[in-house]
Amino acid sequence: MTRRRALIAGGGLGGLTAAAALHRRGWDVCVFEQAITLEPVAAGISVWPNGLRSLDRLGIGDAVREIGRVPGPGGLRQPDGTWLIRNNISAAVQEKYGDPVVALHRAELANVIVQALPFGVVQADTRVTGVRAGDADTPAALITEHGESEGDLVVAADGIRSVVRSLLFPSPVAPAPVGYTSWRMVVPDPGGLSPEDTGFETWGPDGRRFAVMPLKDQSLYCYATAASDGGAGDDRDDRDDGDNETGSSGVQELRRLFGDWHDPIPALLENLVEEQVMRHPVEELNPGPSAFHQGRVALIGDAAHAMTPDLGQGGSMALEDAVVLASLVGEGRVGPEFENVPIPPALEKFTQVRQARTQMVARRSRQLGRLNSAAPHRAQVLTAQVLNALPGTPLASGLASIVNWEPPPLPPADPRSRL
Ligand SMILES: Cc1cc2nc3c(=O)[nH]c(=O)nc-3n(C[C@H](O)[C@H](O)[C@H](O)COP(=O)(O)OP(=O)(O)OC[C@H]3O[C@@H](n4cnc5c(N)ncnc54)[C@H](O)[C@@H]3O)c2cc1C
Repeated sequence: MTRRRALIAGGGLGGLTAAAALHRRGWDVCVFEQAITLEPVAAGISVWPNGLRSLDRLGIGDAVREIGRVPGPGGLRQPDGTWLIRNNISAAVQEKYGDPVVALHRAELANVIVQALPFGVVQADTRVTGVRAGDADTPAALITEHGESEGDLVVAADGIRSVVRSLLFPSPVAPAPVGYTSWRMVVPDPGGLSPEDTGFETWGPDGRRFAVMPLKDQSLYCYATAASDGGAGDDRDDRDDGDNETGSSGVQELRRLFGDWHDPIPALLENLVEEQVMRHPVEELNPGPSAFHQGRVALIGDAAHAMTPDLGQGGSMALEDAVVLASLVGEGRVGPEFENVPIPPALEKFTQVRQARTQMVARRSRQLGRLNSAAPHRAQVLTAQVLNALPGTPLASGLASIVNWEPPPLPPADPRSRL
């Protein structure tokens, strides 16, 4: 049977999910990933209900819920350990939106998505260097160091520094630093933590933040930020969460910035080694590209709309993009009994649908980041106290337009398939 072919640049969460979604619709898929391995082992990720629902459309939402851990009661603290807000965001989110937030290892999430793909679809260690956008009458193409491949659709999922985007859009869209640096690490749980110690975010002066999220295997995903000083190591690498760029200063910096904060932070930093720490100056695409498509090429995930990590939504947006794209481009099988949607108009619709939503989420994430990192500490504390005094769960309620999102249906091309 003839099938339409999709070529995907980048095997991060967005690219893998797009491949799985298109495969589900009967497309032939091929993912070109420049790295030797997929997703780094040392980082965690939180996936919100909108992301989980997107994975449900691929039949893998429950597998992700199974390996993820739902954060317990926690809240917002000050560096001396006093609580500004006590809450259980995940429980509140579950109550309002039918699903909790789950935290898991990024590599495990990538692994579940890869399981939904046929063997051999991902070509690792293959860098995309060129693209042809194609049009209604001519196919698109991706060029890698191993040659050129043609396809009915190209998906640019090659991250914030997308080569494909930079080649297709004449006025370059540059990643913009937002003024703070992030550190991420997964560490063993030192033990002896009370339940409310395991899930918290602590806000200090000068925009310093340290957050801890428990994972299922008794490890903790920690996330810290501080104002960028523009010093050594503040250059970005190609992958927002890929190769470590720290050089030798990550652990020292963390101890200097957070070593005298409340327990268990000093204990978490005590045995840390450089290889465990990922450090990146945070950047976003602001403004982003004028469209999320050109010809037969669709931009998804960070390649289209990299946003600050303050809402933990960048990954879920990439999952949403993948499902919407696969729904719009329709069936991959070709033959008189199948309706094959013309690709360029379908991608115009993709831009219409996704640009407005992702811009809204990016704007809200940026606003939260500014409150966290730039507002005077007293103003932050006051905001937290006001929120704490309000009835109900204002933090969870305020996220309705982001979290209460329903993905389009994505019926499998072969209903008898295991997906
Ligand atoms: C500090 C921090 C914390 C975050 N926390 C969360 C969170 O908790 N929850 C959440 O949902 N999101 C979070 N995010 C955002 C999330 O990491 C991204 O939005 C998400 O990874 C985007 O996925 P992607 O596949 O679009 O891009 P990427 O993850 O950047 O993947 C791009 C892939 O393309 C590959 N690539 C790049 N160029 C080429 C090329 N030329 N040829 C071939 N391959 C190429 C890269 O190697 C990479 O594998 C966080 C981000 C940061 C910086």
